Amino acid sequence: MKRQQIAAGNWKMNKDYKEGRDLAKAIADGMGNSENLAILGVPATHLKAVSGIVKKVANLEVAAQNCHQAESGAYTGEISVGMIKSVGAKYVILGHSERREYFNEGHELLAAKVNTVLEKRLIPIFCCGEPLAIREADTHVAHVKQQLEESLFHLKTKDFRKVVIAYEPIWAIGTGVTASPAQAQDMHKAIRSLIADRYSVAVADETTILYGGSVKPANAKELFGQPDVDGGLVGGASLKAADFLQIIDSF
Ligand code: PEP
Repeated sequence: MKRQQIAAGNWKMNKDYKEGRDLAKAIADGMGNSENLAILGVPATHLKAVSGIVKKVANLEVAAQNCHQAESGAYTGEISVGMIKSVGAKYVILGHSERREYFNEGHELLAAKVNTVLEKRLIPIFCCGEPLAIREADTHVAHVKQQLEESLFHLKTKDFRKVVIAYEPIWAIGTGVTASPAQAQDMHKAIRSLIADRYSVAVADETTILYGGSVKPANAKELFGQPDVDGGLVGGASLKAADFLQIIDSF
């Protein structure tokens, strides 16, 4: 089975409402008949408008950048998966390193969020990845293994098969330093083999694993050309329509 290839953008806390609509429209207009799936990870205030824009385009979807683990309740300022779903988004980015670092999101909380997203039949884009010190100590595979074991590997096979994984080495996020294609490939292969050990080779073979960390038009082709890299989660370069469209065309 051919794995789903995806170019996903993460706008983070950028673009006001009008700027966000304009960017989504420019991407939607430029998508043409691209066969590859593109996903726009937009701020919560933009989810409904951008969902309306992407609805007209095949292979373009919307993601929220976070959600609360509870279905509803007294959690001032939070957004539930049901709310996200009700405005047309199908994906939720979870466990981004910025959420882990600035909002203290740990393994257990992320496991609960993954469960809630799947219960509502949305798709988690689960981020994992190591800081520089761990990479330098050469313990990055063990680090990512723990992230997967503690937040994803409790899932039954049928649920795990819905998950998209994004490997994002923290030292490459927003720094302009990209993992080399060989570094990305090595880690993606290691992740696939962890999935094979926990589930099966068949499940590992069908799991989409994205690379994130300073992906840009100039390096996307080579990164996406690695056998175990199924696309990218893109921050900075997803904020310019022309750049993101070029990345979508890099498979
Ligand atoms: C990200 O935010 O997930 C990311 C990879 O950012 P950038 O592409 O800017 O490094």
